Amino acid sequence: MMKITAVIPAAGSGERFGGKKQLKIMGGRPLLFHTLKPFIDSDLIFEIVVVAPKNDVQQLSRELKSMISVKPVTVVAGGNTRQKSVFNGLKVASDSSELICVHDAVRPFVTKELIEKAVSGCSEHDGVIVAQPSTDTIKKVMDNQILETLQREIIWRAQTPQVFSKSALQEALKMAEEENIQGTDEASLLERIGYQVGFVEGSSLNIKITTKEDWVFAEAIYNHLQHD
Ligand code: C5P
Repeated sequence: MMKITAVIPAAGSGERFGGKKQLKIMGGRPLLFHTLKPFIDSDLIFEIVVVAPKNDVQQLSRELKSMISVKPVTVVAGGNTRQKSVFNGLKVASDSSELICVHDAVRPFVTKELIEKAVSGCSEHDGVIVAQPSTDTIKKVMDNQILETLQREIIWRAQTPQVFSKSALQEALKMAEEENIQGTDEASLLERIGYQVGFVEGSSLNIKITTKEDWVFAEAIYNHLQHD
């Protein structure tokens, strides 16, 4: 069985949200706990690396180590971009791990099944991401004008988990850094240098909490799942 490290970028400052939502309490526990749960539970994940804001590293490391006994957990400081944070996390992944599963700390409704679905697709690709077909029609805009309407049937919205061969992700992050390229997800950094990235269909419950409004949806989803 391939060894898989989960890298959880959680080092955002929450500017668009107004505070660090990754540690905000939902259902009596910090959001990060809900996000980590399926990674703790999945036997496919052999270690967990959490990338945290510099000032939270020590405390979070203590708390997570006392909470997670079934597998190694490491907490490292993030960078000023998400990409740098992921790179920092990758650098402390165990030498023996072969696949890296990147997942946003602010997507708390990821499931064990979704993680395992993405991982299983990796045998045929250099990486596999979870994505959802767009139900909205997507427009390309500039200067208050619509430039183009994209064909909805071929538009998918990228989510995480995103699982990659460790060496491919390492190369993609290194080249992006050297060429000063900022991607909004890791897959785009592999795609641009010719790696083949596949996708599996995710869930519309696997939302990313970015704005204050997203928290309203997140609480509704949390309550819905409690009563499921
Ligand atoms: O900024 P974005 O919405 O893409 O953030 C997605 C995830 O990346 C969040 O979990 C956030 O904490 C993390 N992040 C990070 N380091 C940064 C910026 C964002 O780890 N510098």
